[in-house]
Amino acid sequence: MELFLDIDGVILDFEAGFMDFIRDEYIHDLPPGYVPKSWTMDDEFGALDIQEVWDRFLATKRFTQLNLLIDAQSFNQVAARFPIHLITNLPKSQYLQRQQNLEFHSLKYTSLHLAGHFNYGDENYPSKSDAVAKLRTPGKRLIFLDDHPRNCQNIKNAFPESEVFLMSRPHNSKAEVEDWIRVDSWDEFLLQLD
Ligand SMILES: [Mg+2]
Repeated sequence: MELFLDIDGVILDFEAGFMDFIRDEYIHDLPPGYVPKSWTMDDEFGALDIQEVWDRFLATKRFTQLNLLIDAQSFNQVAARFPIHLITNLPKSQYLQRQQNLEFHSLKYTSLHLAGHFNYGDENYPSKSDAVAKLRTPGKRLIFLDDHPRNCQNIKNAFPESEVFLMSRPHNSKAEVEDWIRVDSWDEFLLQLD
């Protein structure tokens, strides 16, 4: 078995870190625990230029210290048994920062890659299936977990035999479940691996 896992919205709580930044810097009355309703957050914060805010956030130290959505111990137990390839949809400039965040929580994993449905204007930016195609061992059970339905679809199209899981988040609550299984937590995902 080989695992290919998304990071933001699955392992790291990007949304909470980003919302705290927006509350501290821009919208002081943003309710505690506010979770964005869409992945791109385009229309959610009124007059804010979300791209500019996002760029600023990525340059902060707190971006390298996002909290965990999982417990590190159970994650590392899985990593001791199976290869875990992490595939995160960030700009290419953010590789080291992401690595630092994983190290900050002492997470063990086989490899870290940048890929996903959002290409940041880079025509050569790989899809998740591009990344998985290079990493996977044919014949081995292929497990994929992501919180974006487009990445789940991308993997299922490329590898029909794969087992694809969508992690529930508010931004994907309306997504139809197609060829993948929706899980509501890390623990629920782990139960599916037996
Ligand atoms: Mg994600």
